[in-house]
Amino acid sequence: MSGTFIPTDSATGLPVGTDAVFLTLGSALVALFKHAKSAATHGDALAFKWLCLGCKIGNGPGSTQRHTAREAANTHAATCRSIPWRALGDQN
Ligand SMILES: [Zn+2]
Repeated sequence: MSGTFIPTDSATGLPVGTDAVFLTLGSALVALFKHAKSAATHGDALAFKWLCLGCKIGNGPGSTQRHTAREAANTHAATCRSIPWRALGDQN
């Protein structure tokens, strides 16, 4: 897990800027999103990141093109078996 701060939407729990979501084998979500801080530094075209909301793995502190981040997010979703643990914990 990276130390990069990723703001989330309080209504959905997804990272702010999410424009696609992939489902893992364990029913967790993997969000593809445009990171505002990265956009300010690198420009919109290179500001995409991804984060698995199940195992909390993502692409780390860097950002990249949408196509590259999308492929990595989709590949992770196809192999990750984590379940949405945080959602289960929220029910207590
Ligand atoms: Zn995962």
